[in-house]
Amino acid sequence: MEEILNYIDGAMVPLELGKTIDVYNPSNGQVYAHIPDSDTSDIEKAVQAAKNAFPKWAATSITERHDILSKIADLIDQNLDLLAEAESRDNGKPLWLSKKVDIPRGSDNMRFFANAITQFSSESHEMQGAINYTLREPLGVIGTISPWNLPLYLFTWKIAPALAAGNTVVAKPSEVTPLTAFLFSKICIEAGLPSGVLNVVHGLGHTAGAAIVEHKDVKAISFTGSTRVGKEIATIAAPEFKKLSLEMGGKNPNVIFADCDYDKMLKTTLNSSFSNQGQICLCGSRILVERSIYDRFKTDFITLTKEMKVGDPFAEGTRTGAMVSKVHMEKVLSCIKLAKDEGGKILAGGERVFPEGKEKGYYIAPTIIEGLPSDCRTNQEEIFGPVVTMMPFDSENEAIDLANDSSYGLSCTLWTNDVSRSHRVSKKIHAGIVWVNTWLHRDLRTPFGGVKNSGIGREGGFEALRFFTEPKNVCIKY
Ligand code: NAD
Repeated sequence: MEEILNYIDGAMVPLELGKTIDVYNPSNGQVYAHIPDSDTSDIEKAVQAAKNAFPKWAATSITERHDILSKIADLIDQNLDLLAEAESRDNGKPLWLSKKVDIPRGSDNMRFFANAITQFSSESHEMQGAINYTLREPLGVIGTISPWNLPLYLFTWKIAPALAAGNTVVAKPSEVTPLTAFLFSKICIEAGLPSGVLNVVHGLGHTAGAAIVEHKDVKAISFTGSTRVGKEIATIAAPEFKKLSLEMGGKNPNVIFADCDYDKMLKTTLNSSFSNQGQICLCGSRILVERSIYDRFKTDFITLTKEMKVGDPFAEGTRTGAMVSKVHMEKVLSCIKLAKDEGGKILAGGERVFPEGKEKGYYIAPTIIEGLPSDCRTNQEEIFGPVVTMMPFDSENEAIDLANDSSYGLSCTLWTNDVSRSHRVSKKIHAGIVWVNTWLHRDLRTPFGGVKNSGIGREGGFEALRFFTEPKNVCIKY
């Protein structure tokens, strides 16, 4: 049994007997680790450590911060196999995916912000008889709260810019997937990150997470997770006037016009629908297809979906691994049942899978549903699993209306070879990110986030560094 420990004030804190939470390996349904069930007293220690460390860390040179964050990135790279194995065991995602995407992105995040801070500058505004310049100062102690779907990837996405900008951090990874954040803590010790600069506290959302949000010395919260929890966090943080960045759920449209590059679209749509078992906030879960190619697409898409091998994340050839937890698997299965009750026709999947030797694991076959109206619950609520719906459309305007018919607005993918249309439609889509003829193509310099119920604020590139600093204008009369 592994012991996953809190990292507070530069040291690992031993587990307290009777104050732990079980962690499951979703590929076989077995408990394999314990984490501390941290409460307000643990958060208090972590915030105090971060508060004490702040003045010295904020005063370090940019070069010092660059060097230490880069060293952490190097250590992530050197531990790729160990971290990838840990991520797949904890989350259920195929090992090849952890190796190719999750862990490399963890080191990319650290290295990117190590460099970005060396290029970050502020504005000056000259006026008659005076000059203004803007100072961008770190905020102090930041709380970061991250989800289970891309554990190390999203954990580092927040920590890296916060630390690069000179803040200290109290971070809470998801209690469902704590392992790589624990290994990351060890890496920080090895890299020589000063004590208290980063504190990683494990535990439940409504206890440990809420205690971070409520703490008066935590100046800003960067949260990625569900819209429901984002709302709760906003309710607590807003009256305290904390800075908030909320990256939340999505119900992303994948809009396919007949004039697209069909083969490329088909291959990418398979990925955008089912990668990471559909548990990526950016997955396209509503596939809108121009009627003239609807039947052709439907036939090909069903064939390819049925060919996807569902099974052990560690087995050769696995395309779709395990759902992250029993609770989440059951939620997704209940969404499939709801779709049937709403009159949806299941074209592929639609059920739990029991791979040989892993019968106790949490697997769902990639699922395609058609025949549902846009306004039904299946098409309106986030499922966050390997489940997509298909709907035909007849005109560009209808496609735009269907795409925007959602309370969410995270991302949208368009498939068309008509240049004018790609600009025209992109402009009319209500989302934080629009991809044309590609999906999840990320440049870390670009603003990342959503509109409507998908989020407020932007992270990524200088947007993140702006969020994690407070601008102060200085006006000097000549
Ligand atoms: P979740 O909201 O249940 O949990 C996210 C984190 O918040 C966890 O660490 C959890 O412990 C913590 N938490 C829960 N209740 C809390 C509270 N009351 N106060 C403080 N913290 C609390 O989300 P999840 O199930 O872990 O992740 C899936 C969701 O995340 C999906 O909705 C998905 O769309 C979203 N997501 C969004 C993005 C994005 O960039 N927009 C990226 C990935 C995932």
